[in-house]
Amino acid sequence: MSHTILVALQTDPDPFQFINNFLSSPVLRITGQVLVLLAVVFWLALVYWTYSDAARRETVPFVWGIVAVVLPFFGTLIYLIVRPPEYALDSRERELELAVLERELRSRVLLCPNCRSLVERDYLLCPQCGWDLKKSCVHCERALDLNWDLCPYCETDQRTGKRAR
Ligand SMILES: [Zn+2]
Ligand SMILES: [Zn+2]
Repeated sequence: MSHTILVALQTDPDPFQFINNFLSSPVLRITGQVLVLLAVVFWLALVYWTYSDAARRETVPFVWGIVAVVLPFFGTLIYLIVRPPEYALDSRERELELAVLERELRSRVLLCPNCRSLVERDYLLCPQCGWDLKKSCVHCERALDLNWDLCPYCETDQRTGKRAR
């Protein structure tokens, strides 16, 4: 080995020395540990959030909790993509509202047996096709079923026109 190369090796600072020192420094090690700790805390928070959000929707929260544990971060992401759009409470409330509305409608509205158009309960005939739906009481003129002989409102016998009692 010539004398000049030996001098160069001794005097040239190693360009990787700084990086090596930095990588093995306690500052970096602690920073790395803090980052890992933060990631774990964030992961656990996501697991908790995934579970509690799944419990409020129509899903199996236990399963989604496990998915969030097994697939850190991505499990929650997948859950966000496929979760039901509304809370279970909301959808049950909406179903109930719909049932009430339907019942209300059904109690007020009938279908014409002839043309199937909507007719109200006290229509005497269908406005669409003229089909006889009800007859009016001979005394109080309220709408009665065609086969009723007695008026339930005024107690008049439809055949005789007299009070039944
Ligand atoms: Zn009709
Ligand atoms: Zn009557």
